[in-house]
Amino acid sequence: MVLSALGKNELKQMLSELITRYEGLKSQNLNLDMSRGRPCTEQLNLSDPMMENLFRDYGFKSESGTDCRNYGLIDGIPEAKRLFAELLGVSENEIILGGNSSLNMMYDAIARAMSFGVYGSREPWGRKPIKFLCPSPGYDRHFAITELFGIEMITVKMNPDGPDMDTVERLSAEDESIKGIWCVPKYSNPDGITYSDTVVRRFAAMKTKAPDFRIFWDNAYVVHHLTDEPDELLNIMDECKKAGNPDRVFIFSSTSKITYPGAGIAMLAASQNNIQLIKKQLSIQTIGPDKINQLRHTLFLKSVQGIKEHMKKHAAILKPKFDTVLGILESELGGKGIAEWNSPKGGYFISLNTLPGCATAAVKMAKEAGVVITPAGATYPYGHDPEDRNIRLAPTLPPIDELKKAMELFTVCVQIVSIKKLLGELNR
Ligand code: PLP
Repeated sequence: MVLSALGKNELKQMLSELITRYEGLKSQNLNLDMSRGRPCTEQLNLSDPMMENLFRDYGFKSESGTDCRNYGLIDGIPEAKRLFAELLGVSENEIILGGNSSLNMMYDAIARAMSFGVYGSREPWGRKPIKFLCPSPGYDRHFAITELFGIEMITVKMNPDGPDMDTVERLSAEDESIKGIWCVPKYSNPDGITYSDTVVRRFAAMKTKAPDFRIFWDNAYVVHHLTDEPDELLNIMDECKKAGNPDRVFIFSSTSKITYPGAGIAMLAASQNNIQLIKKQLSIQTIGPDKINQLRHTLFLKSVQGIKEHMKKHAAILKPKFDTVLGILESELGGKGIAEWNSPKGGYFISLNTLPGCATAAVKMAKEAGVVITPAGATYPYGHDPEDRNIRLAPTLPPIDELKKAMELFTVCVQIVSIKKLLGELNR
């Protein structure tokens, strides 16, 4: 029953029942967290065999003969570069393996660009005010980096097949101070959207007024499927080359949600021009990455097929959690006309939109009763969701019985706030 079709008295009756339910849940002193996309312990356990003495037969040697315990190989050991280059669809000389965090590599890429420019820049980005396009809802930590560096962020609407390319093309073509865009092209955070082939091709071919424009293509969820019919993403590097813009894209990814988020391997893939310049700059910053970890990962994961098999084990743990959340959303909110959400085929999040003006109040109510959700607004630049609608749900970390409790409480909050809004009683 669509709630907006109900009369005032019916709504008031419902509201009072929901408040009783809320108070009952609150009195349980819940302490649950659905705020961040962290793997759960069972997922982490999947990679524990990696910590066995895999080096016994190898004497810590990479196939190149390099002793992984020592300095050197600034861009990574060859077998690991080959593995992750194949995973990302680039060649071995188009990749750098970094430390344990791709976010760190993104931060460094922005920091280098601000101080020195990128390949083909006429001057450092930081010399003049610059802007970034930010498809939203998006990843809060991307926006935090650009905000920290004083880069003005322009919100771009997300469509079901990716960012609104009419806006992206128009703005990029007319404004030289727009130097880049944040993209999560596969199972996007938080909407779970995979960009269509058309969107990828338009990115590769579009005109940019800034000659040193860069797409920050954060392929964090490259193999993070939840179903046996995964989304396919067109290879942006191939498309950029075909379109005559080979230097346009920086591709990022990591094994954070393949093996361990605290002890994985991060990667940056880009054209050889970009990679050569970055390697030169990196060699001032470090004498080399943790190659023991790279060897450990390569021996454990073995091949792209090995990674795919491993990811199926993650999916087997995660799918029931996503199904639990989706089931409760449907049973509590379905058909009431007060919220919409996605059913992602991969990634780490479910994105929910409330009635306009209700997200902040719903998240606040949930927090007051012991359930922490990602702060409303976090999925937009400057933490400001213009319609105050979007809420990111992260189902991966809590055990299923906790998820059920957290979701019951959360959906009760959404209903209370929505009814108050319909009754004109929502204080903002
Ligand atoms: N990129 C996206 C889109 C993410 O959602 C996350 C983590 O949630 C990260 C990057 C973090 O990656 P890393 O652990 O490699 O720094």
